[in-house]
Amino acid sequence: MLIFEYKLDGSKAQYAAIDEAIRIVQFIRNKCLRLWMDERGGQGISKNDLQCYCAVLAKDYPFAACLNSQARQASADRAWFAISRFYDKCKNHKPGKKGYPRFQHENRSVEYKTTGWPLSPDGKHITLTDGCRIGRLRLVGNPKQKIAAFPLEQIKRVRIVHRADGYYVQFGVKAERAIVHQPTGKQVGIDVGLKAYYTDSEGNTVENPRHYRKAEQKLKRLQRQLSRKHKQSQNRKKARKHLARAHLHVQRQREDFARKTASTLVSSHDLIAYEDVQIRNMVRNHHLAKSIHDAAWGTFISWVKAYGVTHDIPIIAVAPQFTSQECSACGALVKKSLSVRTHICPSCGVVLDRDHNAALNILAKALACTLGHRETSSSEDNASGQTASTRLSQRKTSKRSG
Ligand SMILES: [Zn+2]
Repeated sequence: MLIFEYKLDGSKAQYAAIDEAIRIVQFIRNKCLRLWMDERGGQGISKNDLQCYCAVLAKDYPFAACLNSQARQASADRAWFAISRFYDKCKNHKPGKKGYPRFQHENRSVEYKTTGWPLSPDGKHITLTDGCRIGRLRLVGNPKQKIAAFPLEQIKRVRIVHRADGYYVQFGVKAERAIVHQPTGKQVGIDVGLKAYYTDSEGNTVENPRHYRKAEQKLKRLQRQLSRKHKQSQNRKKARKHLARAHLHVQRQREDFARKTASTLVSSHDLIAYEDVQIRNMVRNHHLAKSIHDAAWGTFISWVKAYGVTHDIPIIAVAPQFTSQECSACGALVKKSLSVRTHICPSCGVVLDRDHNAALNILAKALACTLGHRETSSSEDNASGQTASTRLSQRKTSKRSG
């Protein structure tokens, strides 16, 4: 699935109508969740039951009926997604929190499937035809990206997202981006870290851009300004908007960096091994948390996987045990705390940068051991659109929104 994103240009009334559609999505999702909660212990609720419940809701609540029927179904699917994820975690006895589904308060998007959004033949306007009265909106984006070039049957979903700096539409296109990978004969292990963005098994490092740290002063100032404003005042509203926009900017910088770095890495290697760290566990370590979020490893790895699929090269995850402690030359265990940056082996005398040593171990593990598994997840991971992000060919759009 490829994602094409455009900014939407419309009137205030149209934006309000989009917000209303987004609220209906949340209403349906939460109602479905409530039904499931109430019925637990009884027969249980299936995905199909929720789909049928959509029709009931549309009958009982006229405002819900305004939303396109497929969009209503998609809202029920969201509830089911939360429920099934919870079930899966329970079934697999995943340690830690099971993620009991929660009611949503901050929904930001509405998803249409294949109906209710005729696209103008030149691909410059989209019209939303359901009862929410959103109407015709202009698409603003990279002129080189032509959504109209794809046959309509290939556009499987259309998602409208409300972000801090405006409204966006994402088209999910079912198409493969085939890239002929130029073999390089190089295999590499990478160690993602705090000091460097990553260190590879040849000792090369990519510097950490630390966007957040750079932007931190600005964010702090905006946060202070916000807290000084009177509650429920217009000025507070404005200050909150400024802050949200600054956060969005940092988020986009991060994603952009992760995507470009991943692309470079994948196109210059034939095999990539990485350490399968539980990022969430590491974030719990409070001292590291900010830097870890900053580096956005999770995003980086998922882009590496996605590019691995398009380039058709193996991306291998290895278990993280001992990768930093073992000596890559002789295999001896050399205990060291996180602050020790150099690996010095007392048995064989090898001296390496800590992360370089780890990267070598990661590659060796991937090549040797059966624990490593070929990642087969498609670019869907990235395409889920749950985060505000820079997509395949997004670029800065005009600043008309203010
Ligand atoms: Zn050694």
